[in-house]
Amino acid sequence: MGRYTDSVCRLCRREGIRLYLKGDRCYSDKCAIERRSYPPGEHGQSRRQKVSPYGQQLREKQKARRIYGVMERQFRNYFKKASRKQGVTGEILLQLLETRLDNLVYRMGIAQSRNAARQLVKHGHVTVNGRRVDIPSYHVRPGEVISVSEKSRNKDLVKEAVANRRRTEMQSWLNFDEKDMSGVLLQVPSREDIPVPVQEQLIVELYSK
Ligand code: SF4
Repeated sequence: MGRYTDSVCRLCRREGIRLYLKGDRCYSDKCAIERRSYPPGEHGQSRRQKVSPYGQQLREKQKARRIYGVMERQFRNYFKKASRKQGVTGEILLQLLETRLDNLVYRMGIAQSRNAARQLVKHGHVTVNGRRVDIPSYHVRPGEVISVSEKSRNKDLVKEAVANRRRTEMQSWLNFDEKDMSGVLLQVPSREDIPVPVQEQLIVELYSK
């Protein structure tokens, strides 16, 4: 599947907020949003301010996609899945994205960004309930135990991320034991427990046209 390979800071500048796509750098004054808080491109500084309702819906969808690092087709599939379930579609959509394995590895502080988390999973450094899972989109269920595999615990990448994990605010619906390098998804989070700056209702409106 294709992946975005250009500078990820451009994505934050396009959305006008920090999406925290780069780990450590995002918390420093080297963050591109600090230095150039206007959209990228030739007309970035002169871009007109008025955005149509459709434009707003599109921006919210792009923002969510970029935060979770999901490609368009996969994102639409998440929406289809959410709309088939009973409940508030926008909330279910975010719950599906939050319970991806790569997102939880990031939220537990095992990796400094979702992108780094995806790499760890893909390279086989993560187990779920003791079995290696190398699929970043793996849907984690409450009670499942996510761990760094025994042989990967001494990797610099992992040690550094775990040492810096005080920056990662631990969510009430997760726990993580630094000594064991493992954590559990305690429950599927409700909307108010998902700290992403996305107006999911606009995404639902966009896909419901
Ligand atoms: Fe976004 Fe991080 Fe780049 Fe800042 S440093 S623009 S938060 S990816």
